[in-house]
Amino acid sequence: MRLTGCNLRCSYCDTQYAYEEGGLMEVNHIFEQIAPHQCRLVEITGGEPLAQDHTPTLIESLLDDGYEVLLETNGSMDISGATHTGINQRNQQYAVVLSVLD
Ligand code: SF4
Repeated sequence: MRLTGCNLRCSYCDTQYAYEEGGLMEVNHIFEQIAPHQCRLVEITGGEPLAQDHTPTLIESLLDDGYEVLLETNGSMDISGATHTGINQRNQQYAVVLSVLD
């Protein structure tokens, strides 16, 4: 699941289309889009997924629905919202993937 927006502009970026392309989607619509894939593992990436305020809510909704969730971040933004207690209590289903910056 690729979210729009990134706070960085790395010279080697291969996903520049993620800076601005895409459109607003309600969480229910996201669930409708991913359900047909019949895969219970979702990786949230970008862009930088933590650039969107509602990403922790999306993570919680996915976990509540039984998905395993990976969050890929560039490591430059505060991750506390995506690791708060409510999410940590389900950490057997959730992992943060750090993309190392040069
Ligand atoms: S953090 Fe990732 S998406 Fe953002 S500019 Fe760098 S390589 Fe591109």
